[in-house]
Amino acid sequence: MTARAIGPLSLNTVTVKERWGLAECIEGCARHGIPGISPWRDVLQAMGVERAARQIRDAGLHVSGLCRGGMFPANDAAGRRAAIADNRRAIDEAQAIGAACLVMVCGGLPPGSRDLPGARAMVRDGLAEILPYARDAGVVLGLEPLHPGTCADRSVLSTLGQALDLCDALGPGMGVAVDVYHVWWDPDLDRQMARAGSRIAGFHVCDWLVPTTDLVFDRGMMGDGVIDIPAVRAMAEAAGYRGALECELLSRRWWGEDPDRVLETIKERHATVC
Ligand code: ZN
Repeated sequence: MTARAIGPLSLNTVTVKERWGLAECIEGCARHGIPGISPWRDVLQAMGVERAARQIRDAGLHVSGLCRGGMFPANDAAGRRAAIADNRRAIDEAQAIGAACLVMVCGGLPPGSRDLPGARAMVRDGLAEILPYARDAGVVLGLEPLHPGTCADRSVLSTLGQALDLCDALGPGMGVAVDVYHVWWDPDLDRQMARAGSRIAGFHVCDWLVPTTDLVFDRGMMGDGVIDIPAVRAMAEAAGYRGALECELLSRRWWGEDPDRVLETIKERHATVC
């Protein structure tokens, strides 16, 4: 096997969300020798941010990200203000647990809207508004472009190129979270990964199943689908990325499995197919 420049394996807590809270995820990572963790905000808040920060530190885990900020577009000013306030709380939480980035899922069209340029402007304006706060906290905003199939309801930010255009426009403190599930199809991926360079703040893996039955909740275990994960990893390494390789699996099938078996499978696939 070739040497792997990308650093530790990390468990995104959504992967076992039906059965484990954050405390069990922390214990599970320690038990299985998985050196990194990336919590979602719901399990972080359920455990309590301070207590979680302490136990993550005590377990010696690297925090590859916090999921997630974003969701900026809204139909009225009050909705947009509420999103800004919530993003500030997310930045506080990311700082408290020492997350390598706050993963940003930027949001889709507001309900009933057909104004895609307007929604994209709300994303840009929202990011610009929270960026000074993130810089003060030392928290990198990791823009995660999502597959265009989710443009209407989850993310009007669809490609790595689009994310990097925003990074260019907004400046220091911005980065990208590259999820192979969302970017593998992009004919411009190689060029955009090189362009991203040191701005790659997170690297997420799972797989694209054929046929896929749900764009959100049918992600595959690495090796079970069609994504050439080592090829995308090599692009990240060539760009200089040395952070975690984070397994993030939103899958009704894997949510039904025993979490210890899920973690064993992730470790095995990390070693053999990532
Ligand atoms: Zn992701």
